Amino acid sequence: MLTFKNRTALVTGAGRGIGRAIAETLARQGVTVICVSKSAESCGATAAAITAAGGRAKALAVDVADGAAIAKASEELLKEFPVIDILINNAGITRDGLLFRMSESDWNDVLTTNLTSCFHWTKLIARPMTRARWGRIVNIASVSGVMGNAGQANYSAAKAGMIGLTKTLAREFASRSITVNAVAPGFIKTDMTAGFSGDAEIAAKILETVPLKRFGESAEVAAMTAFLCSEEAGYITGQVFNVDGGMAM
Ligand code: NAP
Repeated sequence: MLTFKNRTALVTGAGRGIGRAIAETLARQGVTVICVSKSAESCGATAAAITAAGGRAKALAVDVADGAAIAKASEELLKEFPVIDILINNAGITRDGLLFRMSESDWNDVLTTNLTSCFHWTKLIARPMTRARWGRIVNIASVSGVMGNAGQANYSAAKAGMIGLTKTLAREFASRSITVNAVAPGFIKTDMTAGFSGDAEIAAKILETVPLKRFGESAEVAAMTAFLCSEEAGYITGQVFNVDGGMAM
């Protein structure tokens, strides 16, 4: 059992997959969770499931690719929750393709959704955290940002950017007891990877690169993330934790 002292968390991309698992895991630890996703239906479903299980949650539909929408949502949220203690930057998309075939809009969409969103959310949510002198920020990066991956120039650049941001903010916020870490998942079974985990031939090729020879579960990423948000993880900052079946060693 981890220790959480009446904390509130905001999880982006909480409607499905890894983000939903993180939201549900934190809620089971007694954390009040603000579930953000693009569509009201998906964050609403996560918040309803948490509430039905006896937890506390609020759903909020925000397009994280829109900085002005993030600013408006944060302003409203901070009236209701003067301090959001835990921020999980998890929302992400892929628009894969080899560099010569990658359009500028595919580049920009991935950078804006995956990386620039972290800049906006962190800038707004971390300010009250600094006054409270306690906070946890976890950025969900990727093994692609650690190792690179052919066909994902935009995505691996965004994820490597999240790792650089993590290390810099860990240094900027350390004096306020705010830790900032990144989790880098490998191939996790979610809607994002359904295209290849569901195809036996592609799956077999991918699993050749995974020492543990299986796809990961969202709950396995959530467990690491929840630990990093706990009291017990207070001396860990600026680190990247690979949850990838041993891909990046
Ligand atoms: P997913 O199943 O596709 O879910 C993505 C979530 O992000 C959804 O809730 C979606 O909202 C939300 N989202 C996407 N664009 C958004 C936007 N513009 N505004 C607000 N919310 C937005 O993805 P996942 O596999 O759980 O991935 C979660 C994170 O882990 C991503 O950052 C991904 O890059 C990273 N990751 C995943 C894997 C993997 O193998 N699955 C591996 C490494 C890293 P809606 O529900 O409303 O559509």
